Amino acid sequence: MPDTLDSRRACWVDSNSKFFNNLPKRDNPRVATLKEVISCTNDYDPDALLVAKANEVMRSFVSPVSGVEKVRVHAALGRVLAKDIVSPINVPARDNSAMDGYAVRNDDLGAGEPVTLTEIGTAYAGGEFKSEVGSGECVRIMTGAVLPKNTDTVVIQEAVNVDGKRVTIPPGQERGQNRRLAGEDLQKGKPALRAGRMLRPADIGLIASLGIGEVSVRRKLRVAFFSTGDELVSVGKKLKAGEVYDSNRYTLWGMLTRLGCEVTDLGVVRDDPKKLEAAFRKAAAVADAVVTSGGVSVGEADFTRQMMAKLGEVVFWKIAMRPGRPMAFGRIRARERSAYLFGLPGNPVAVMVTFYHFVRGALLTMMGRTDTDLPLLRAKAETAMRKKPGRTEYQRGILELKNGEWSVRLTGAQGSGILRSMSEANCFVVLGHERGAVKAGDYVEVMLMDGLV
Ligand code: AMP
Ligand code: MG
Repeated sequence: MPDTLDSRRACWVDSNSKFFNNLPKRDNPRVATLKEVISCTNDYDPDALLVAKANEVMRSFVSPVSGVEKVRVHAALGRVLAKDIVSPINVPARDNSAMDGYAVRNDDLGAGEPVTLTEIGTAYAGGEFKSEVGSGECVRIMTGAVLPKNTDTVVIQEAVNVDGKRVTIPPGQERGQNRRLAGEDLQKGKPALRAGRMLRPADIGLIASLGIGEVSVRRKLRVAFFSTGDELVSVGKKLKAGEVYDSNRYTLWGMLTRLGCEVTDLGVVRDDPKKLEAAFRKAAAVADAVVTSGGVSVGEADFTRQMMAKLGEVVFWKIAMRPGRPMAFGRIRARERSAYLFGLPGNPVAVMVTFYHFVRGALLTMMGRTDTDLPLLRAKAETAMRKKPGRTEYQRGILELKNGEWSVRLTGAQGSGILRSMSEANCFVVLGHERGAVKAGDYVEVMLMDGLV
């Protein structure tokens, strides 16, 4: 089974050797067609597609944007590192003290009884203590100060007895204690940060600790989005019978912005083939990816399908999941440009669930991110949860620590139109494909909705 990128590539090569035509670089084959990618996916059934298979196809089909830009360190926060950062120095540069105390020669210390040494001066952070330290001598030292020559151990000031220049050290000190070794944080010549990670506050601090002021990051991903539906009304207008306010454009805007994309909002588009085609062309001409909501459910898919056939290569899926069964995915073209298309269902919760569990990973891959998977935690179900085997469910939950254990309950009604269920939740309860009903007290897996940074 081809389960790595390389083996999939090998599969495409076997199935279509033309694939390696027009190589921009060695080892960088041209992007495969969707048909080629799908032909390498085992158990591909577009009418009952497993969540993992849909993700596999999407992640294999999309490729990272190639543009790279240099930005100052502050501006790199939240961006994707394009090249490894190799440390030009050791951090710390020299062995130094982790505490305020006395720098001593461990060989001078007694194994079972106190030893009295003579203090010969003070070593401050930011300077260098010039004299050598002889046998029977010690140096008062501040946190961060370079260890004076011949000393290897720091005894904290609270542990010693001082009488003028006479410093008595109790027994039981360990060689090297309270000493920070040169290069123990970052070693010169070694990669300090790998390409493909999103830079967090700790990372930009770490880059600054190397004295580096500029970083190469991938260019921002451009994503256009719009809502489709005759029933939709934009905020600011009065609702008539049968109409609903368009909320998907707001949740999509929020999720895309949080992901770090440059967004283009193309508004509400009516269920009219001409208007839709124009909107898709406009989106493909300006963006790397297009995300839409509505128009892929059973009643509407046929007409969207016909239009998509003109614009590019798009597949329509029914995914074995809930909520969010129907979805369209592919690549569309306009004016010599192409964009990946994610056609999401219209129901507000289904939009968010399909975004987080499919689109997010694909867009992060396009942004050059290599760290896309999110951890699952194990939590005890406070109440029973309805679930049928044969589909993956993403119920909305509230996770809390109760009696020293993670405990999760659902946010009330789980209908795919009930956006409040997302708003109240702090996690998804992820119920796997094979799983049946959950009893109160059973363990389930949950995925947190918010990260710390
Ligand atoms: P559809 O997938 O287009 O059949 O839409 C499914 C359901 O989601 C319908 O009840 C729509 O009214 C609703 N819906 C579709 N798009 C939106 C939107 N942008 N904002 C709020 N609700 C929507
Ligand atoms: Mg619709």
